[in-house]
Amino acid sequence: MIELDNVSKYFGDTRVLDGVTGKVNRGEIFAIIGPSGSGKSTLLRLIDLLDTPTGGAIRISGTEIHAQHEKDLSIRRMMGMVFQKPAVFNATVAENVAVGLRFRGASKSEIDARIGEALDTVGLASYRERRARTLSGGEMQRVALARAMVIEPEILLLDEPTANLDPVSVAMIENLVVRINRDLGTTIVFSTHDMYQGQRLAHRIGVLMNGVFSQVGTPREVFTLP
Ligand code: ADP
Ligand code: ADP
Repeated sequence: MIELDNVSKYFGDTRVLDGVTGKVNRGEIFAIIGPSGSGKSTLLRLIDLLDTPTGGAIRISGTEIHAQHEKDLSIRRMMGMVFQKPAVFNATVAENVAVGLRFRGASKSEIDARIGEALDTVGLASYRERRARTLSGGEMQRVALARAMVIEPEILLLDEPTANLDPVSVAMIENLVVRINRDLGTTIVFSTHDMYQGQRLAHRIGVLMNGVFSQVGTPREVFTLP
């Protein structure tokens, strides 16, 4: 579903990614594990078309992205992304969730129904008309997750989605990740510096180290010493 082919990214003279190669299969949960500063966000941003690689190719369902603007727009619509810092704007929870649907020109009744479903899923149905900025960090992150899901993305990208959250919120988000993957078949790529979280959630893991995937495999393959 996602192919990374010798992907590199430099910021000026700083080499962040230096030949990342690997594949994410359709329908799997894939963890990018690496220490802080190893380039996890950078890699996710390249996949999400928020930044362009310095070299190499990224293919999604066989189509190279960053190569043709027209195709990139339709591919971007297949993806939802949740950022490390819960990003909600100053409006109601419902408005925050509706954004992607409005851009897609959905009808009001469809938007209402989908917001309801998404908020049910993340356990925030009763918060629909609350101002999003008054929620806790964990709740805001669930709003961000509802916003990413409501467009029914084929690929969900999560950049350290549980960093800085309390343990109850971490467990909730982890539970949602597993359920979204299992019930909707969504391909999920998330980053974490927590190898235990990778082990708990991921079908396969890529270990990002010194600008490359030093290992790619199942948790058992990656964490068992040879
Ligand atoms: P991680 O998500 O693994 O913590 P990042 O992808 O955020 O790592 O960052 C990797 C490195 O790239 C860091 O050294 C960071 O300072 C650098 N970096 C990230 N974005 C930029 C940018 N826009 N300009 C310059 N350097 C950047
Ligand atoms: P458009 O292509 O006209 O920007 P979208 O529905 O793709 O419409 O985007 C709606 C809003 O959500 C925009 O502000 C866009 O930046 C943001 N967005 C869309 N897709 C993503 C994504 N995969 N990751 C992050 N933000 C996104």
